[in-house]
Amino acid sequence: MLLGEVREEIVDTCRRLSAAGLLPGTSGNVSVRAGDRVAVTPSGVDYSELTAELVGVHALDGTPVDAPLKPTSELPLHLAVYAAKETAAIVHTHSTAATVLSTLVDELPPIHYMIALFGGRVPVTPYATYGTRELADATVRALRESTACILGNHGTVATGHDLSTARTGAEYLEWLSELYLRATSAGTPRLLDAEEIARVAEKLSGYGQRPPR
Ligand code: 13P
Ligand code: ZN
Repeated sequence: MLLGEVREEIVDTCRRLSAAGLLPGTSGNVSVRAGDRVAVTPSGVDYSELTAELVGVHALDGTPVDAPLKPTSELPLHLAVYAAKETAAIVHTHSTAATVLSTLVDELPPIHYMIALFGGRVPVTPYATYGTRELADATVRALRESTACILGNHGTVATGHDLSTARTGAEYLEWLSELYLRATSAGTPRLLDAEEIARVAEKLSGYGQRPPR
């Protein structure tokens, strides 16, 4: 199977995000770029029924190369991000707290130092209809200053140099949003300043270890 390992990894990622509640129903989509090919989830398929064969492989202009089903309706967004940015993986979720936050603020407030994971700022894009060029363009603009963004009244987009980084980004984005919502429902949270976030971003560049094999 063309890009078999990548397609398996996409299925595994969707299962994990779906089990964690970040992809209600058939919402969200996931892609990986490998050279001049993009492997991407099909549109509207139940994650419990998703298999590697059903994950489509497309050229960078969207032409299907090996895709038995219609690709995600957000294919224009995924392709626009790959055209604009050096990134290898994209995770789009409809996670609850981040989506709630998208209706309230213009960017994720610096409630915790882990916001530095995204380069310091996570913008919220203006609302645009799903699957449109307008949404793709707004996402590309937001990702100029961050590795992730929140889509107004819609969900999240996290990118990464590999799929596990993009998935972890989506998980942290949801957790940070949840922190902010809980803190503001209990009172007025103290926020961190830009200098501290920049210091942490520097430290995080060396963070993380792999167990010895
Ligand atoms: P697809 O099922 O077409 O990927 O659409 C889900 C979605 O999240 C659209 O924004
Ligand atoms: Zn969506």
